[in-house]
Amino acid sequence: MKPIYLDYNATTPTDPKVVEGMLPFLYENFGNPANVLNEYGWTADNAIKEATESVAHLLKCHPHELVWNAGASEGNNTVVLTLIRKLKQLEPTEKIHFITSEAEHLSVINAFKAAQQFENIELDIIPVSKEGIVTVDELKKFIKPHTKLVSLMWVNNEIGAINPIHELATFCNDNKIYFHTDATQAIGKIEIDLQKTPVHFLTFSSHKFYGPKGVGAIFTRQQIQLDALIHGGGQQRNQRAGTMNVPAIVGTGIAAKIAAEKMHDESKYTRHLLQLFYSLLKSELPDIAVNGPAVEDQQHRSPMNLSICFSKPANLVLLQLSSIAFSLGSACSSAGVTSSHVLKAIGLTPEQAQSTIRFSVGRWTTEDDIQKAAKTLIEAFKPVKWQETNA
Ligand code: PMP
Repeated sequence: MKPIYLDYNATTPTDPKVVEGMLPFLYENFGNPANVLNEYGWTADNAIKEATESVAHLLKCHPHELVWNAGASEGNNTVVLTLIRKLKQLEPTEKIHFITSEAEHLSVINAFKAAQQFENIELDIIPVSKEGIVTVDELKKFIKPHTKLVSLMWVNNEIGAINPIHELATFCNDNKIYFHTDATQAIGKIEIDLQKTPVHFLTFSSHKFYGPKGVGAIFTRQQIQLDALIHGGGQQRNQRAGTMNVPAIVGTGIAAKIAAEKMHDESKYTRHLLQLFYSLLKSELPDIAVNGPAVEDQQHRSPMNLSICFSKPANLVLLQLSSIAFSLGSACSSAGVTSSHVLKAIGLTPEQAQSTIRFSVGRWTTEDDIQKAAKTLIEAFKPVKWQETNA
């Protein structure tokens, strides 16, 4: 018996319809889309166009505003590093200020840190609220006359907090500051409308919404041109070199189509599962606390994530929890056990971070899974009652 999978924020299973749609592009339709002189090439090229249209439909943008890549880590690095390079070329001696938050994915934070190799770069990694959110009022406190780019994620991958992206992007746009959002945990889960929300750059990976791994895209608003991070043969209008991963892109297009159809019902369903999970746990383990926004706060909490702080470190009961797949609030590295930077950013102590488990549910989670997982957790975390034997 495989463990019950409650780790959909880490990655989602590939939807069988996605796999089915990808297979012909591994077998008979194996052509290189850059060579449209033969049928193999143009079949692949047409399939890529169709997939790009499906993603554009999901995000409500123009297909030309999307550039395919290997996923959000590449996308985040591309936005940060190529924009900085471009600004430096335009004004080599001018001071440039960037803002990101303490709760971002490390592919954003470390890309900014890498950009500090350029001269006259100022970086503010700003705090988040105890729910893990940055508001416009908070952001305003850090804006300088030379602030050029703000990067704030749409949905946090560890605690499920949703930032007010519409307000943040509007503020930046009105003040002529570029705004990037890492939407990896938002796409296919919550509504994204790029016609209404004036973000300049958005990045995502396909494997978080039932597509394959190692593929994703960058949205860049039409009037802005990002330079390539990967140089080579001029593919994708010179924006990202390399032969395109046709099966993976086709799979992402199918995943986007399914998401557009199912997203609203699926979110209702996963919210219901998480509320059930939380109430089962809370009734037997009253000491637990939810990290990030409250369970019932639909506006600020991802429909699929629940990060819970238990009464003792999770590694003490890991063996008892082997029938469930989840993520911990701490990770073992060569330097020992390190706490998550996100849990630290929302004010948790190292002990609380080590007592935190992230659960995330999705398309194939059942109520039965939730009942069984809750039972296992209750048994593992229930305080031991000592019998008064010699009274
Ligand atoms: N950003 C966020 C918010 C993520 O959750 C992840 C994946 N954990 C990434 C970026 C990086 O995605 P990938 O590993 O697919 O490049």
